[in-house]
Amino acid sequence: MLAIVARGIARDLQRTCVAYELREREFRPVAASPTATRRASRSVDEVDLDVLRLRALMRVGGEDLVAVSFDGQLRAMLVIEGATVPLSDDDVKHLRALAGQLSLALGSALAFEQLRRYAAEGAALVDAARTILGVNELEPLARVLCSLVKRMVFARYVSVYGRRGHVLARIGYAGSDGLPPPPEELPLEEDAAWDTVLAEIDMPFAASRLMMRADPALEAQQGLLVVGRPERFSKAERRLIDALVTLAALAIRNVELYEQTARTSQALAESNAFKDDLMAMFAHDFRGPLTVISGFSELLLESDDAEARSSAETIIEQTKRLAKLSEDALALAATQSAGFSLQRASEDVAAFVREAVAPLDRERRVTIEMPSEPVVISFDRGRLRHVIDNVVGNALKYSSGPVGLRIAATPEGACIEVADTGIGIPEGEVERIFTRFGRGTNARSRGIAGSGVGLYVAKKIVDVHGGRLVVRSVENQGSTFSIQLPL
Ligand code: ADP
Repeated sequence: MLAIVARGIARDLQRTCVAYELREREFRPVAASPTATRRASRSVDEVDLDVLRLRALMRVGGEDLVAVSFDGQLRAMLVIEGATVPLSDDDVKHLRALAGQLSLALGSALAFEQLRRYAAEGAALVDAARTILGVNELEPLARVLCSLVKRMVFARYVSVYGRRGHVLARIGYAGSDGLPPPPEELPLEEDAAWDTVLAEIDMPFAASRLMMRADPALEAQQGLLVVGRPERFSKAERRLIDALVTLAALAIRNVELYEQTARTSQALAESNAFKDDLMAMFAHDFRGPLTVISGFSELLLESDDAEARSSAETIIEQTKRLAKLSEDALALAATQSAGFSLQRASEDVAAFVREAVAPLDRERRVTIEMPSEPVVISFDRGRLRHVIDNVVGNALKYSSGPVGLRIAATPEGACIEVADTGIGIPEGEVERIFTRFGRGTNARSRGIAGSGVGLYVAKKIVDVHGGRLVVRSVENQGSTFSIQLPL
């Protein structure tokens, strides 16, 4: 468009004309009428030049110069040459009208270009948002913000200050070669308004000093973004910086939340570890005294005194309960600790289960069905014993009839089924019995003692083996627990 105008001027005024466009602090000739002597580019430090200063810059005297501004900024200029005869009043009028029209036309062209730039800016902002919001430490965040702003608005330097007590400390900086960085600290009086403090600070090209709020919900200013460049900002640039600052404020809030969460989870982990250690210590240290108590109580069973014998039986029974509770607590603490792992070895699981069941089956109620061939899988002996103790122990505890134990090799590995004809599990409560401290309502209402921990731990152990612990049950008819273990 500038080319058409340059040609139009040349034709109407019978002179030559060169059109310059201002980009990144440089006037570049973009079009000229055919007879114009092409002029070189001119760089400028400032872009708020009036026509007189522009004339001096372009070293044009008798020639005329039309400055074209848009959006409050100088954008282009037309230099008319070849004025051997001074321009007539009509020519000057014509030229002025042309400048006005040109400004309008350029305005719409620039508006179009700006729209395109907004779209590009939008995309750049989305990228910037991703970058900014992805950083979760304050100083790297400040550095990223500085370099983003610097790149997006062609600044000489950008620095970010944050409030630290009575000073504003520089937490981020992006500068250019040969430019001394702005001060590391800026004093900040308790009650002084930031604007006043900032206005007094001597920083090169501090064209824009923007307040930042760390938390968008906070009224108080928390930080400062200093953008150093000689030119004023256009509205679009201000909007862009504002958007970046808002993003940074959000990111700073994120950083704070992230740090808070990290601190809380650290504290939680410590208190959890303490609780686990405490539980393990109690459970472990219970064993010794319990063994002594049951040992002496068994001696009392041989007493001639019937009352003493009956008391001894009660003591033994309650001691067993306590021992079971402490076993459960110990196993629970083990499953909750971060270091819960298996010590596997490959062996015949059928033989192992048969041996594990023998001490539980004092009343000889368990019938075992197993293949003649060994069923070799890899498992943790100690942990699987705990599972068998619990599942078979429960079958004996929650029923009074026979208990069927079937061990079989399956294509996936091994299956251990424990079937009883006891109280069963009420409908809808199967999920619950595998939860921590979860017990069936019928077990409770019948006053059968229990902690609700055994199956929870057993399921965890089977899960860690990569297997499944499931149950089929009908209340008052019985339950079949099946432990499926992979090869
Ligand atoms: P506890 O037996 O100590 O209560 P468990 O975790 O071993 O804890 O079992 C959880 C609950 O599951 C029991 O309280 C009981 O309600 C139910 N349960 C477990 N095994 C059986 C079973 N064989 N028959 C009926 N109910 C059972």
